[in-house]
Amino acid sequence: MHHFNMIIDGTPVSSARLIEVANPATGRPFATVAGGDPDHVDQAVAAARRAFPAWSGTPDAERRRLVNALADVLEAHMAELMELVTQETGKPLGGLNQVGSGMEVGGAIAWTRVTAGLDIPVDVLQDNDDARIEVHRKPLGVVGSITPWNWPLMICVWHIMPALRAGNTVVLKPASLTPVATLRFVELAGAVLPKGVLNVITGDADVGAAMSGHPGIAKMVFTGSTPTGRHIMRSAAANLKRLTLELGGNDAGIVLPDVDPVQVAPKLFGVAFHNNGQTCACLKRLYVHDSQYDALCAELARLAGEVRVGNGLDAATQLGPVQNPAQRNFVHALVEDARAKGARVLSGGHFIDGDGYFYAPTVIADARPGMRVVDEEQFGPVLPVIRYTDVEDALAQANASDNGLGGSVWSADIGAATALARRLECGSAWVNEHGAIQPDAPFGGVKQSGIGVEFGAYGLEEYLSLQTVKVMKR
Ligand code: NAP
Repeated sequence: MHHFNMIIDGTPVSSARLIEVANPATGRPFATVAGGDPDHVDQAVAAARRAFPAWSGTPDAERRRLVNALADVLEAHMAELMELVTQETGKPLGGLNQVGSGMEVGGAIAWTRVTAGLDIPVDVLQDNDDARIEVHRKPLGVVGSITPWNWPLMICVWHIMPALRAGNTVVLKPASLTPVATLRFVELAGAVLPKGVLNVITGDADVGAAMSGHPGIAKMVFTGSTPTGRHIMRSAAANLKRLTLELGGNDAGIVLPDVDPVQVAPKLFGVAFHNNGQTCACLKRLYVHDSQYDALCAELARLAGEVRVGNGLDAATQLGPVQNPAQRNFVHALVEDARAKGARVLSGGHFIDGDGYFYAPTVIADARPGMRVVDEEQFGPVLPVIRYTDVEDALAQANASDNGLGGSVWSADIGAATALARRLECGSAWVNEHGAIQPDAPFGGVKQSGIGVEFGAYGLEEYLSLQTVKVMKR
């Protein structure tokens, strides 16, 4: 079994306690990682603080070059990293609509390159006989990053690349369930970055909690569940840490009556089920007009029955297992709740026998508010379909959620769909698409889905503080 170490101050660090990492396709461990503790947090923060003056003082062009070199590292080790991502998350190498570990590593490269290319401008607000006023953007210090298990490598890249590009140093903690590709990447990054600039520690929630309360960390960027986001926000108050929180979603999609159900079904299926629904901005509630309801449900159920579920290392696999047994049990509990309250399970609704944490892709008809699968984020291979007759009512139901990450409207009438999409209460609204993120467009949640945005120039601003410099001329 491979073992992966933490990296603190450029040095591999292990510990007496080891964490076993299981492959969800088999349920068996395939790697061990060091089980870090709050002392390691102290060491990593100290190393990052020592590295900060030189890194933040590095000429901008050189930092840009080094971030680009990290993309080269990802590219050179793409096959190895893809296999590690598949082993730890269960997601296929290719997968449904090619949303698998190939996309995860490919996306990590693309996001890194776009971030390397971003400018950090100086704004001139005034330059006259009285004074010159410039607004400079300065790095914050040490950034703490905590990542979840669904897209571990890509989300770590989303956090660390803008942090580094801006001149911050980083302490990173991946999810205990999926630390492996991240540890390997940070090990490889050691060939590019000065020591102490990027540190990674593993461990359980106590490590994450120690980071969020740590006085030496200036900002936390966190992607994960809303309850954990609240914990982090509370602890961060101790030293007024800056926060970017990318939290849970329960994205709604509204299908307008002019859509051809057979034509739209594969697209809807893909955006709901890729990565087994374990993506923050997957389509998680589908509102369909009464006139197409039965036809669209039947088509979605047919697709769910045909999709190939299996070990992600097998090239034919479209959907892998659920990432962990607790999540599979949770998903099943939501399905059982819906069944008990009168919903019709058109496909799936059960575990798949054998090793691993497989769950049959599930389409639920006659879903309605009051069922947990509608009211809560399922984060699994289950799609509830809700019937509506009045589009204003569908919009009201879509917005009647504490979450506000993404949402979509599906129609042949682009003008009407866009007008409706603008009224969705969410950070990203798509027309005839869902979850279509890209590295130059801001992405983030409103309401309980988070604070702040990531990506592009908008996201980079979150890793910088503004300094106004006024030079008098008289
Ligand atoms: P989670 O349970 O909140 O865990 C996320 C990370 O937080 C893990 O590294 C975890 O460490 C750590 N953690 C747990 N308790 C902590 C504490 N008290 N203080 C500090 N850190 C702590 O989330 P998850 O189950 O891994 O991820 C699924 C959730 O993430 C879903 O709700 C999904 O929608 C959301 N998500 C959001 C986005 C977005 O961009 N908005 C993207 C992806 C996922 P351990 O693993 O060691 O427990």
